[in-house]
Amino acid sequence: MKALISIDYTNDFIATNGALTTGLAGQSIEKEMVNVTRTFIEQDDFVVFAIDAHQSDDQYHPENKLFLPHNIIGTEGQDLYGSLKQLYTINQSNPQVYWLNKRHYSAFSGTDLDLRLRERNITEIHLTGVCTDICILHTAVDAYNLNYKIVIHQHAVASFDAIGHNWALKHFQNTLGASII
Ligand code: ZN
Repeated sequence: MKALISIDYTNDFIATNGALTTGLAGQSIEKEMVNVTRTFIEQDDFVVFAIDAHQSDDQYHPENKLFLPHNIIGTEGQDLYGSLKQLYTINQSNPQVYWLNKRHYSAFSGTDLDLRLRERNITEIHLTGVCTDICILHTAVDAYNLNYKIVIHQHAVASFDAIGHNWALKHFQNTLGASII
C-alpha cells in the first residue's frame, strides 16, 4: 500500500508575499502538485497534508533563531496555496485525506504519521511539496530510517535554493534509495 505525503504547499512558502516564499520555484509546481494529489485521491490512496504549524509565542522553538515567523496556526499563511487549496477543500471530509500539523521539518517528528501509515499497512510513501532540501529531505531521512520505500515526484518538489534542490534529489536516490519519478 502507498500514501502521498504532501508537504508545506502553503501561502507562506509559495505565495509571492509569503513569509518564507520559494517564489516562482514553488509556484511553478502547482499544476503537478494538483495532478499527483488528485490521482492519489481518485485511487482512494491515503493522502496526508503534512503542514508546518507554529505558534507566535513559542519561545523555545529552534526555528526562531533561523527563520522569520511563518505558518502560524490558523493564519492565511498556513493555508494551502492556490488550486491545491481548492482540491483539499472539496475532499477534506474524505477519511483518506488527513491534515497533519507538524512542528518540525520532518512530517514524522512529534506526529502520529508513522502510526497512521502502519495501521493502513502502507510501506511506500510518495513525497511532494517544499522545500526539497529542508522539509522533504528531513521527512525522507526519517522515512528511510523507519524502513519505508520512498518515491519522490521530481516535478512536484521545489526549493528557493536551486543548488540545495539538485543536491537533495541526488541524495534521495543515491543515499536513501528513493525512486525519482
Ligand atoms: Zn517551520
